[in-house]
Amino acid sequence: MTMEETEADDEALVADIASRASGVRDRVARAAHRAGRDPSEVRLIAVTKTHPVATVRAALAAGLTDLGENRVDELRDKSEAVAARWHLVGQLQRNKVRDVVGRVALVHSVDRPALVDALSRRAAQLGVVQDVLLQVNVGEDPAKGGCRLADVPVLVSYAAAAPGLRVVGLMTVPPLPGPGTTSDEAARPHFRSLREARDRFRAEHPALEELSMGMSDDLEAAVEEGATMVRIGSALFGSRTEAAR
Ligand SMILES: *Cc1c(COP(=O)(O)O)cnc(C)c1O
Repeated sequence: MTMEETEADDEALVADIASRASGVRDRVARAAHRAGRDPSEVRLIAVTKTHPVATVRAALAAGLTDLGENRVDELRDKSEAVAARWHLVGQLQRNKVRDVVGRVALVHSVDRPALVDALSRRAAQLGVVQDVLLQVNVGEDPAKGGCRLADVPVLVSYAAAAPGLRVVGLMTVPPLPGPGTTSDEAARPHFRSLREARDRFRAEHPALEELSMGMSDDLEAAVEEGATMVRIGSALFGSRTEAAR
């Protein structure tokens, strides 16, 4: 391709993402209004997993500011190439903590004390404070990460006491909807339980403000139930080629 063709491609990609982002923002705004909420309370996190760095750059050019990845290696490579507010939205292993702390605005997937310890130790080494969310497996789906709802009180207290970490909220990924149900309606009770958990613990832990919940197929229910962050991939960037992700 010539330089001119590459630039034209990039412009088309930016325009396409900008138009999809505006569609997603409309969906967020309509859901917020139905729930009597201000749409500006909902941050849009663009999940760029599996998409190339060119798409990441185009997303920023299209006005998206918060970007998410679900794998640490991909996050490391892309965040080295492109500066943005990065979020780790996928599972984190203790041996990868070093590649994450200080690099991301927010870790969404803290779900066990051993991970709290590892993150806290690394934050102390770097002299930084790392914001984190606790991931809760509200649906107790064996295919998903997250602690059980019943474990939240202990994990919140444990993480809140860990030096170098600031627990700013909760995150969940609902189970896939069963046949004959829409994603939105299947996910709603999980979103509601997460909000109720956040509300219960907020008296003791006032920093617990954020609710990271809602993806491309269920963002309406999430926003209606109180999401402060939605994590959107396919509605912004099209379907992914790797089926499992
Ligand atoms: C991939 C992913 C998303 C985005 O999913 P879409 O359905 O493509 O919007 C959100 N959250 C997590 C944890 C993900 O892995």
